[in-house]
Amino acid sequence: MIDQVEQPYAYRHAELVEPDWRRFPGWASVTSSEWESAQWQRAHCVKNIRQLRQVLGAGADEAFYADLERDQAERATMSMLIPPQMVNTMAPLLAPDDPGFTAALYADPVRRYMIPVFSDRRPDWPSHPHSSRDSLHEAEMWAVEGLTHRYPTKVLAEVLPTCPQYCGHCTRMDLVGNPTPVVDKHKFALPRDDRLAAMVGYLKATPGVRDVVVSGGDVANLPWPRLEAFVSELLAIDSIRDIRLATKALMGLPQFWLTDEVRAGMERLATTATQRGVSIAIHTHVNAAQSVTPLVAKAAKAMLATGIRDVRNQGVLLRGVNTTSEALLDLCFALLDDAKIMPYYFYLCDMIPNAEHWRLSLAEAQQLQHNIMGYLPGFATPRMICDVPYVGKRWVHQVARYDTDRGISYWTKNYRTGVEAGDPLALARQYEYYDPIYTLPESGQQWWRELADRDAAAGQAAVGASPAVSASA
Ligand code: SF4
Repeated sequence: MIDQVEQPYAYRHAELVEPDWRRFPGWASVTSSEWESAQWQRAHCVKNIRQLRQVLGAGADEAFYADLERDQAERATMSMLIPPQMVNTMAPLLAPDDPGFTAALYADPVRRYMIPVFSDRRPDWPSHPHSSRDSLHEAEMWAVEGLTHRYPTKVLAEVLPTCPQYCGHCTRMDLVGNPTPVVDKHKFALPRDDRLAAMVGYLKATPGVRDVVVSGGDVANLPWPRLEAFVSELLAIDSIRDIRLATKALMGLPQFWLTDEVRAGMERLATTATQRGVSIAIHTHVNAAQSVTPLVAKAAKAMLATGIRDVRNQGVLLRGVNTTSEALLDLCFALLDDAKIMPYYFYLCDMIPNAEHWRLSLAEAQQLQHNIMGYLPGFATPRMICDVPYVGKRWVHQVARYDTDRGISYWTKNYRTGVEAGDPLALARQYEYYDPIYTLPESGQQWWRELADRDAAAGQAAVGASPAVSASA
């Protein structure tokens, strides 16, 4: 009997759990109806260390707060913003005055990416020499402000630069959220409505685009009537066949997606989409199984009940958060079994500054892809994706060449973006992606150290000044 054979992963159906928020001194008297109110959640987001202390009471050690304070001053690329719903999923089995609470907080997967502390980061290479703000060069590919046209038939519309929650590893750290002591933020030049109108104008004039990812930021921060109006304008463009709404808030603030206003509005959009033969889907961003609570499942199912095509998850592979096959499969089954959210992608964390401790090597991601095969239904087996600068999303096994000593992978592409429209060699080039240096063999690490020393001696800013593309061999 195969179910009696010991397997590398043992599937068991796990009941979803909403941890008891009353275990936190700051929320000891919060009622269920307050907790389930989107307004209450937004008003009680944790935005700074003082507010975190108020919630946790005297539970966490002073050393933890000092660690956090140093990170915010010297490393953090995102400011702090965490809805109570997400705080409540951290160290879910302990109250702050339980023994071991601080250790549990340090080890917690959600804490590791939502409240990064200085000691989490790599002391040797906090950033890869080739890391950069806007590491995917999205702004270079804006057709109009905020509309990235990187693939032939699809675009990304960054409709706003804010979210209900800020993730420490955010790829759009260049644009999204408030400035931090180490990162100033790009500001859109055009007022919001002018930007959105310019996007609609471009899409009307560009019938080759059939697929629009409406993102930001997070669409949950656009006032609902404005979001509904924008999506309705997209639905009125004949050439558009797919619309994807990007919202981590389906997990971080499910209360928003459960409001009457949003449910009724989504139902109107889904009805129009069905009449026009267009698919609307929600794409969310869940990185840890414990984040899939009954409220998250309720919100996902409420959205499906409006008649939209699907709710899919695009997680990010983050070391210490979800980079064991067991953690990934637990997450995928939690999404699929009771929340009806489709596991879709897991991205390698992009090459932004101060992210090395989170990033995996390509080889590690390939191994994870291998390890999760065969447990989930094929349609729900997520692909591990490397988003290669100037190339786009590539399945991790599509690498053309891989120097595992120096941690440099080489990728090819099969379409042009606007930035290389006039480049006859664009499709013949190989484009580089880099593993975290500390994961390399000693010889490879030494190569990078010598390169950095040479550049420093030559007075160059960093080896990252060199372009990340090379002519094909
Ligand atoms: S929700 Fe998405 S856009 Fe917003 S901070 Fe997180 S990763 Fe960035």
